[in-house]
Amino acid sequence: MKINVTIEIPKNSKVKYEYDRKTKEIVVDRILYGPSSYPLNYGFIKEALDWDGDELDALIIADQSFIPGCVVPVRVLGAMEMIDGGETDTKLITVIDCDPRYDHLKSLKDVPKHTLLEIEDFFSTYKNLQNKKVTIKGFKDLAWAEKEYQECVQLMKDYGSMDKKAFIKKMMKEHPKKYAK
Ligand SMILES: [Mg+2]
Repeated sequence: MKINVTIEIPKNSKVKYEYDRKTKEIVVDRILYGPSSYPLNYGFIKEALDWDGDELDALIIADQSFIPGCVVPVRVLGAMEMIDGGETDTKLITVIDCDPRYDHLKSLKDVPKHTLLEIEDFFSTYKNLQNKKVTIKGFKDLAWAEKEYQECVQLMKDYGSMDKKAFIKKMMKEHPKKYAK
């Protein structure tokens, strides 16, 4: 599956840039409290709304680091299922789709195991010094990731214009499983 990802955070950055859907601005939310930096380029899928009230997140495997706000064509390989502060916060794992060096990556099975370990380690520890808990539930295959993407596209169609807090409150009531600790 080919999609576009809008970059928030370049690979190796410690600046937590976040896109604000209301103002359409990229805001510096914070500098990561801990010593690590983003292991991969990180961004969002503008047509898909995740259960945490933000656009669906994506990590991009690529050599280069990209500037915030630019759009990168990618192929989806799979996903990492994650709970952040009690909210479902899935990360799609994708690869750049305009670099022949990566043409051989078709699924998570083609990704070096150590790359996945780095992703898992980063997200399970990056909020430690904020005393916030992140739970990694594991990696998922392409079929799971595509289903998640489609579900989030539907959420964006239905609730994209809704206030974030009101959205989470409504979804917690209607889909409590998505918010289990
Ligand atoms: Mg998110």
